[in-house]
Amino acid sequence: MRRILVVAAHPDDEILGCGGSIRAHCTAGHIVRTVIVAQGLTARGAVSEADLDAHRRAAREANARLGVDRVVFGDFPDNAMDTVALLDVAKFVEAQIHEFQPDTIYTHHPHDLNVDHRVVSQAVATACRAQPGIGVDTILFFEVASSTEWQLDPTGAAFVPNWFVEISPYLDDKMQALAEYAHEMRPWPHTRSYEAVKHLARWRGATVGVEAAEAFVLARRILRGKTP
Ligand SMILES: [Zn+2]
Repeated sequence: MRRILVVAAHPDDEILGCGGSIRAHCTAGHIVRTVIVAQGLTARGAVSEADLDAHRRAAREANARLGVDRVVFGDFPDNAMDTVALLDVAKFVEAQIHEFQPDTIYTHHPHDLNVDHRVVSQAVATACRAQPGIGVDTILFFEVASSTEWQLDPTGAAFVPNWFVEISPYLDDKMQALAEYAHEMRPWPHTRSYEAVKHLARWRGATVGVEAAEAFVLARRILRGKTP
């Protein structure tokens, strides 16, 4: 039984980054769990427990629509994860991996513009050091509309996808899950608008000759006892 772990910084990153692929995994009978590392609200001013609860409820609804087994919430500060020791974030991610034993992890690209995204990506890399006994065979970096493409650093490694998942049958599911995060969406032509998310899926699909796709950078793939 395949076990898929999605490690996202904020609620909505998981749907923007790999919502269609999550649906594809769940449809194939794989067990998918989502971990949301940061609180997702605190950078925008004071928030109440009720606000946080509502935000988490939206995340549970969005993920349940796609068939996710469980959503785990971390408590790291929103848009300030560079103020936290990387080791603490890595330990949190490591504990999730230890408990769930995934074979595949989806997470952020390490050169994303958003600092929390970068820290989470680094924490996953740290937690997945390829030591004897590590069971994580596949690590994929996703792109998050309104963050990954905003990175300006021309010297850094840009997001250049080399792994595509066709999501033609699941694009509507992805959009419906995203609707649970309506408060995070912006009007077109913002890149975090429903239209832009659809256009990106169409473009990533057209890139590889299918109706719709999600694109990833393959970070690591280990083949065990299989013909390469
Ligand atoms: Zn985010």
